[in-house]
Amino acid sequence: MERGNIRTCQSCGMPMSTREHFGTEADGSPSKDYCTYCYQNGAFTAPDITLEAMAKIGGGMMSQMYAIPIEKAESFTKEHLACLKRWAGREIPVCESCGMPLARDDDAGSEADGSPSEAYCAYCYRDGAFTEPDLTREQAVVKYAPMMAENLGMPLDKAQEMVGYYLSTLPRWR
Ligand SMILES: [Zn+2]
Ligand SMILES: [Zn+2]
Repeated sequence: MERGNIRTCQSCGMPMSTREHFGTEADGSPSKDYCTYCYQNGAFTAPDITLEAMAKIGGGMMSQMYAIPIEKAESFTKEHLACLKRWAGREIPVCESCGMPLARDDDAGSEADGSPSEAYCAYCYRDGAFTEPDLTREQAVVKYAPMMAENLGMPLDKAQEMVGYYLSTLPRWR
């Protein structure tokens, strides 16, 4: 795996780290945006699926993997999916440190010259520097997992597993 080349499928949210994960365009070239489950030969494999139906499938898997109550898993998945290009109509970047969607201008952090950061959110990055420059991935897991466990009603060890996996897909921690 090369550094920095993980893409998130802009339909289902799956991280795509190897060539096999990517779908195909009509000419056989790899899709830039979509995974092999969602997109084949230049078209969606399930063209009529709704955001709700997709959230049900994804939420069901999350619920099983991480022992999250099904309704919470589905609503969490739906929020996450709603930021993807297929559902939002445009690709919304996420903070490369914490994964928060940078949907609005004030969500973005700031560079030293005051211009908005294109990579990081306002919580993680201000005036051209990380707000917690020495934070390690392990510490970030310890920091974020209890919030996740509380929000999603899941056991802490499962939350740690989920956050650890999620952070490993973000450029800051790879
Ligand atoms: Zn997909
Ligand atoms: Zn952030």
